[in-house]
Amino acid sequence: MASPAKQDQRISRKRVAVVGAGVSGLAAAYKLKSHGFSVTVLEADGRAGGKLRSVSYNGLIWDEGANTMTESEPEVQCLFDDLGLREKQQFPISQSKRYIVRNGLPVLVPTDPIALIKSNILSTKSKVCFYLTIEFQIILEPFLWKKYSTSKVSEDDTDESVGGFFQRHFGKEVVDYLIDPIVAGTSAGDPDSLSMSHSFPELWNIEKRFGSILSGLVQSKLSTKKENSGVRNGTTGKRKPTRGSFSFQNGMQTLTDTLSKELGEDVLKLRSEVLSLSYNAGKSASQNWSLTYSSDRNSKNLIADADAVIMTAPVCNVREMKFMKGGIPFPLNFLPEVAYLPLSVMITTFRKESVKRPLEGFGVLVPSLEQQNGLRTLGTLFSSMMFPNRASNDEYLYTTFIGGSRNRELAKSSTDELKQIVTSDLRQLLGVEGEPTFVNHFYWSKAFPLYGRNYDSVVKAIETMEKSLPGFFYAGNHRDGLSVGKSIASGCKAADLVISYLESSTHQPCAEQ
Ligand code: FAD
Repeated sequence: MASPAKQDQRISRKRVAVVGAGVSGLAAAYKLKSHGFSVTVLEADGRAGGKLRSVSYNGLIWDEGANTMTESEPEVQCLFDDLGLREKQQFPISQSKRYIVRNGLPVLVPTDPIALIKSNILSTKSKVCFYLTIEFQIILEPFLWKKYSTSKVSEDDTDESVGGFFQRHFGKEVVDYLIDPIVAGTSAGDPDSLSMSHSFPELWNIEKRFGSILSGLVQSKLSTKKENSGVRNGTTGKRKPTRGSFSFQNGMQTLTDTLSKELGEDVLKLRSEVLSLSYNAGKSASQNWSLTYSSDRNSKNLIADADAVIMTAPVCNVREMKFMKGGIPFPLNFLPEVAYLPLSVMITTFRKESVKRPLEGFGVLVPSLEQQNGLRTLGTLFSSMMFPNRASNDEYLYTTFIGGSRNRELAKSSTDELKQIVTSDLRQLLGVEGEPTFVNHFYWSKAFPLYGRNYDSVVKAIETMEKSLPGFFYAGNHRDGLSVGKSIASGCKAADLVISYLESSTHQPCAEQ
């Protein structure tokens, strides 16, 4: 057997190409580089970060992409420790204060059953149902679930909508006034189009396993507690308690900027759009891949050779790439088209004296039904309430989202039209007077892939690509979840798979064809 040092030398000569410098690609590249691999990250855009996009301008700081993240995934916790990012984390003030609009006005979302009973977010009937299911879930909700289970959902039904699932458990009002605004605010989607198994896989699996959401949640909480006591005894993996959502001192892009800096200019190639990928099996899993990419520094396309590839570009971009296997085209006609949701992100500032009913907390979400009360935005984050350094002392900075599956056309409106819409909604919700003192508009034509009810076919097609193309791995928000945390975990998992693939091929000289 080779000595660890020799083995490391052989591994370090292995080359990995990562396509895409969003957070998933950068996390994957960082892990591979830390393991001694030679990594090249090819990014089509002129900047790294993908959907993490922070701007500092004239004393203001805002995010045009993701605004906050959580660190529930152990991969995120490890990455932050490694990168020394803990001191740059910024936790929002009053983050548990979140509002949902009811009858045209913001209502504080209750954080416990007593507060829920007192609030006017749900009607008395739904409150009682929701309260009872929360308090006495173990008895009631499994009963409700069983009542509908046989008629509505079969064992392997992976296509139930988010709306259908929650309506089955908690009723329509909970869907309209809790689930609808939450899914619009986290994925720009709507409860009827989104697939439950892809949008909330944990809840979906808990219900499948335990027959009820809440008794399942209670039981998994108990087993997490057991695991955590195991952590203290040093008997199991390390998972630290988390403190909710957070950002970084200069916005979310601090994370991808830190990763880019760690990788260095030699590794990260910007303005390098991957056009084609070719796999040719050799005697070993060595330099079997060759990627053609455009470069603004050179009029000719360039080629990067690699032993393995991690693809993190959105599926719509992968469908445009040409794949070859053994010198003949490898058509991607089995890779379905993914639907995307467009979104406009509007940043506005108002002088504090012009905001008559400012609210402390995270932000306010607008249910679809509230469009009948004249509201047209999906929701607004109280950015400078959460993070006071985002604006000067005498102004508030707000981040408002418009569009998504609720209103695709509205997302494409001009900055002037959107400014009117945002100002009108904030007038109704927070009592703003006059015009904003600053406006910034960023339009995402493809903000989020829609995890629709046929999304299984996309995941299966990605798996087919991986099986057919040795050394090809796919990661990112089109596969493992939309959040920043899940994208990081996805990149890290792909890096682990590459490491095992290349380590095993180092021991076995003959590659599979
Ligand atoms: P991306 O960031 O999309 O990166 C893919 C990269 O591939 C891009 O840089 C792209 O340029 C590159 N690429 C494409 N084609 C090619 C090619 N041919 N060659 C080379 N490179 C290519 N998540 C949260 O957790 N919290 C939030 O608050 C939150 N808010 C959001 C708000 C908005 C407006 C948006 C748009 C997203 C938000 N998200 C949020 C989701 C989250 O930001 C993303 O899901 C996540 O950042 C995706 O990372 P990724 O690396 O998988 O993909």
